[in-house]
Amino acid sequence: MRGKSLQLPTVRAESGGTHACAHHFHRYISYADEPEFSPTFRIYLSGCNFRCSFCNVAPTCFDRWSGSPADATILARECGAALDTGARFVNLLGGEPSLHLPFILQLAAAARRPLPLILNSNGSFSPSTRSALRGVIHTWIVDLKFGNDDCARRVARVPAYLATVTSNLLALHADQRLHVRHLLMPGHRTCCFEPVVNWLVQHIPGARFHLMTAYVPQWRALTDPVLGRLNPRADIRRACAYLAAANLDWSTDVQAA
Ligand code: SF4
Repeated sequence: MRGKSLQLPTVRAESGGTHACAHHFHRYISYADEPEFSPTFRIYLSGCNFRCSFCNVAPTCFDRWSGSPADATILARECGAALDTGARFVNLLGGEPSLHLPFILQLAAAARRPLPLILNSNGSFSPSTRSALRGVIHTWIVDLKFGNDDCARRVARVPAYLATVTSNLLALHADQRLHVRHLLMPGHRTCCFEPVVNWLVQHIPGARFHLMTAYVPQWRALTDPVLGRLNPRADIRRACAYLAAANLDWSTDVQAA
């Protein structure tokens, strides 16, 4: 796959065909999400249409056969038990969970009560997948990872990134609960973080936005001269100052940068 761009998403998921048999490679209760969501019962679905060089679940997440078959009936029962014992949400992530539309619909249908589902996505889903999940997903957490197409292509091997993800954000903002995240990457503050904030302020003013700064290089980023390091403290301070001046409902994972 080296050097090739990936195709954005999900014709197979739309058809309800090839991805009907989802696999999952982790599931557990997590306190790592934002306070308004924690604790969540996380289910990691296998397969991703991005190849982010810093991915912390690579390469396991790339193989859609990783882990075990995701049985909707069994997992719906586990979700119910997790909610009964204190989890506030069921967080579907991956990989890219929207690739598994049939499984998500089956999971929701198999549950004895409505599941508070979070779809934690890279934002690359198709309009038809988005429509099919309306009323099924409680909250959409979308990672707006890149501020321009060139960085998306170089870091995640994704073409035409912004058009796809921003059109989904606009559509979700109209009538769904939307929460946008951005992971601050070393060397990408002015090319990615600031354009992301600017776009949100211009198009979705007041949006719920969470800045993650605890970047740790993983996978191919370990040997990358730009991405193979932590965020400098000065960059975190500048990012927080930039956000403080923006018209967004924002939070961050640092108390004092
Ligand atoms: S979108 Fe997420 S799971 Fe997929 S490669 Fe990027 S970081 Fe990894």
